[in-house]
Amino acid sequence: MTDTSSPPPLTRQQTLARLGADPSVSVLIIGAGINGAGLFRDLALQGVDVLIVDKQDFCAGASAAPSRLIHGGLKYLETGELRLVAQSTRERNLLLRNAPHVVHPLRTAMPTHSWFGGIWPSIQRFLQRPAKIDDRGILISELGLTLYDFFGRHFRSMPRHSLTLGRKVHQSLPDMRGDVRALHTYYDAAISQAERLGYELIDDGCRTHRGAMALNHVTLTGADGEVVSFEDEEGNAFTVRPQVIVNAGGAWIDEINRTLGLETRHIGGTKGGHLIVDAPVIRDQLDGRMIYFGTPDGRICLIYPFMDHVLVGATDIRCTDPDQAVCDDDERDYMLEAVRYLFPDVTIDPEQVRYRYSGVRPLPRSEALDPGQISRDHAIVEDRIHDWPVLSLIGGKWTTFRGFAEEVADNVLVRLGRRREIDTRQLAIGGGRDYPRDAAAREAWLARVTELCDGDRGRAITLLARYGTRGEAVARHCARIAVDGISRQCPLDSLVDYREGEIDFVCRFERVEHLADVLFRRLPIALSGELDSAVIDELATLCGAALGWSGARRGSEIDQARDVAMRAHGVSLTPADSSSQENSP
Ligand SMILES: Cc1cc2nc3c(=O)[nH]c(=O)nc-3n(C[C@H](O)[C@H](O)[C@H](O)COP(=O)(O)OP(=O)(O)OC[C@H]3O[C@@H](n4cnc5c(N)ncnc54)[C@H](O)[C@@H]3O)c2cc1C
Repeated sequence: MTDTSSPPPLTRQQTLARLGADPSVSVLIIGAGINGAGLFRDLALQGVDVLIVDKQDFCAGASAAPSRLIHGGLKYLETGELRLVAQSTRERNLLLRNAPHVVHPLRTAMPTHSWFGGIWPSIQRFLQRPAKIDDRGILISELGLTLYDFFGRHFRSMPRHSLTLGRKVHQSLPDMRGDVRALHTYYDAAISQAERLGYELIDDGCRTHRGAMALNHVTLTGADGEVVSFEDEEGNAFTVRPQVIVNAGGAWIDEINRTLGLETRHIGGTKGGHLIVDAPVIRDQLDGRMIYFGTPDGRICLIYPFMDHVLVGATDIRCTDPDQAVCDDDERDYMLEAVRYLFPDVTIDPEQVRYRYSGVRPLPRSEALDPGQISRDHAIVEDRIHDWPVLSLIGGKWTTFRGFAEEVADNVLVRLGRRREIDTRQLAIGGGRDYPRDAAAREAWLARVTELCDGDRGRAITLLARYGTRGEAVARHCARIAVDGISRQCPLDSLVDYREGEIDFVCRFERVEHLADVLFRRLPIALSGELDSAVIDELATLCGAALGWSGARRGSEIDQARDVAMRAHGVSLTPADSSSQENSP
């Protein structure tokens, strides 16, 4: 559907010009996290004129901060949310097919310490009563995983669960705590670049239908019954006249409604932090699998290999101001303690934490004392302001975004008097389109792209892993552009795995407005723990060249990116290099 022969999508300038000439759209989506982005693509596919806006970049809120599991939600069996587990396992299986470039099977091990532990508290939780489970025994885990396999039977592509007992348990995990008696192994999935897949949904939507428009970095300023008003970062105002408003603002939903003139109390968010830790001993023992384990305080934590390091998560703490949510030192220490509990003999210090991130779950408002008891299911809540229906998208999981988008799109289509034309269940996303699924197809793709990469097969493999099949367009761009006769296939000084032409491609064709958009979302540079001052400076120069930034602009982009890296992600940076920030025009 979004092949290169379709007309190019509207650029930012064209979008602003179109809205200036005619502010009417059928649907306005406020908030471009995964819920907004999924809906945007779905409505665009049905040919609906739709505008999506975000005050930050696309996919920069909670959707950039998950545990990165595309999962059925084993723990939701405990809270009796069977419908959610059934939907989540089905959506997991669909995403493995539709986004194979970024969603991969994840072998998961669950340690248990006893045969009978956890039975009574599990029954209590299933009955929606508060109960702490600090030991999920073999029997209760076996029951849960049998149910999990049953729910995950539709479109299954991964094996069923298995159980390992006795000495074998510690053979591959010699440093795991000695009192673990059994390991259950089952399969879920993980998404390597959630931020990128979120962006690809926006891109697919824009390419699908000329009436589908997307603007990042714009601020909602008000609504008067006729129009909804916005301002861009240069202070330029513009208005939109929608028929339906969808509030996909995640943890900001009530704040957005207030700006529209509506008082609501839909959201009771909890923040969750994650760490990317440089822990080679643990990473090697994990051998590609995740360990999903209970902690002595009754919570569940996870650890799995992620881009050469390990990813550890997550906390679950009430949060009222999503703009201030960062993973603080207490959360970092809590998660490191959880890792020490599982691997008591491995030394692990705060200095090994290369990156941290935090996001606020847009959960429904609840009086539950234990945030873990609040439902992770989704809901559409309708309010009205002036003559507009305002649909707020509450809750939801990354995993289930497509199903949620389908429900909301169907609701909106009825209001617009239209019918669904395209089913998204089997539709590939972004670089997952035409993905080479068997060895022969992969070989053919790699051979073609290797040629574009001056014969460098390793480079073709990297492009396929990073961009999926869109990697071919990246390779073509790198092969084509040369500056002063110098090919832009050369590696960056600060990041040898990236090429100059690649950064140029992302800046020109992927709706980049700021340096931070590239470092933190379009590319997994920060996430892989590779961010340092040299990277920021070199990327600023390349982005500036592609986007025509002045020296002053480049300097302020560097300052902003450094601030985000240090304040929000706990990255230690050497002092700024003043020569790269000179105020030249
Ligand atoms: C710690 C944590 C771990 C999680 N782990 C998983 C997991 O492993 N698997 C899984 O399936 N799910 C997971 N989730 C759940 C999932 O990530 C979220 O439910 C989902 O990302 C919510 O998406 P959203 O689009 O509703 O919200 P968001 O992604 O927060 O998007 C809301 C958007 O609205 C924008 N916005 C706010 N105010 C305005 C305004 N005034 N004008 C315009 N735009 C505005 C924000 O900038 C933001 O981009 C996790 C969530 C968290 C926080």
